[in-house]
Amino acid sequence: MDGEKSNQKCKNLVLFDIDGTLTHNPGPSAHKRSFEIALKKVHGVDVKLDTSKIHGSTDQQIIKYHLEPFEISDYKLEEVMVEINRTFAKIVDDYQICLIPGVIEGLEYLYGINALIGHVTGNLEPIALAKMKKLGISKFFKLGGYGSDHEERSELVRIAVRKASQKYGFVEKNNVFLIGDTPKDIIAAKRAGVKAIAVTTGTFDAEALHEANYVISNMKEISGIILP
Ligand SMILES: [Mg+2]
Repeated sequence: MDGEKSNQKCKNLVLFDIDGTLTHNPGPSAHKRSFEIALKKVHGVDVKLDTSKIHGSTDQQIIKYHLEPFEISDYKLEEVMVEINRTFAKIVDDYQICLIPGVIEGLEYLYGINALIGHVTGNLEPIALAKMKKLGISKFFKLGGYGSDHEERSELVRIAVRKASQKYGFVEKNNVFLIGDTPKDIIAAKRAGVKAIAVTTGTFDAEALHEANYVISNMKEISGIILP
C-alpha cells in the first residue's frame, strides 16, 4: 500500500485518537489491566484503574493520577511504561477490543483520497500499534504522536505534524484534522492550531463536544468534511 501512492503529495493529514474514536472495549480492558499489573510490580501499589474522571488523558498522565494518592516522590515513569508495554503484549490476546462501526469505511475513504493518516493518542506507542495490528488496520497508519512521546496531548499533535513534514514532505498546514472523542482532543487540536473533528462514539455527546470545528456521530461522515 505504501508504494502505489507514495509519489503523490498528500493534501490532507488526518490524525486519529484511538480509544472511543477507533476502538472500544466491550468488556475488561487489557490496557487498563496492564497499568494495574505494572504499578503493582514497579511501585508495589494496588490500583483499580479508573479513568472516568480523566477521559482523554495521556498514559503518562494516567500513571501520575493513580500514583498521586500514594504520595510517591519518584513516579519511575520510564520503568512503569516499559512494564505496561511488556504486560500488554503478554495479555492482549486474552482480551476483546472492537472497531467502532463506520471506522473502516472512514479509513478506506481517506485512503482513497490519498490522505496521510496517523495517530494522536495518549496510548504508549507499542500499545497503540498492537491494537491496530489486532484489529487488522495497521496498514492505514503511517505516523503518529503517542503517549510515550510526551505527556501533553497538544505536543503529540505537534510531533505528528512534524513527522508528516519530515517523512512525507507534508506542507498543507491548513489541512490538518484531529479526530477524537473527548473535550481534551479538541483542546489539543486548538492549542496546536489544527482542525478538531469530534466524534460522539465515546463517552461524550455532541453538546459536550460543541467546541470542535465539526461534530459527527459516525466516522463515515468525514467524507463530507475532508475533501479530495
Ligand atoms: Mg479517546
